[in-house]
Amino acid sequence: MKQNNLFSMIIVVLCIVVPVFFIIRNTIDNNSSIHVKMYVYNDLAYDILLPTYGNYVLNHGTNVVQINGYDVTMIESDCNNGLCLKTGKINRSGQSIVCLPNHVSVYISSSDIDIII
Ligand SMILES: [Zn+2]
Repeated sequence: MKQNNLFSMIIVVLCIVVPVFFIIRNTIDNNSSIHVKMYVYNDLAYDILLPTYGNYVLNHGTNVVQINGYDVTMIESDCNNGLCLKTGKINRSGQSIVCLPNHVSVYISSSDIDIII
């Protein structure tokens, strides 16, 4: 009877550990292929693999985007409303910074397909 309980316990632990292992591995794989895509008038200006560091000039200097690791920020813009500057820092797949007056948009995207267990 005691051995049966131990065997059941091992099965339960395996049922918990194995999916968690695959979820963690999948998350790490997704982090390794996160891109920042920057568009000017719907034309792709930059497609950058994160993490990286640097400033990127868009639309002949109207906008400047700074990438600091996984953090993406619009640091300069000559638009009149400044909404893109107020967006602040983005760092997750699906987030975006848009500057409508200058037709500039910046997206964070993951190229992997998310697998939900
Ligand atoms: Zn703007």
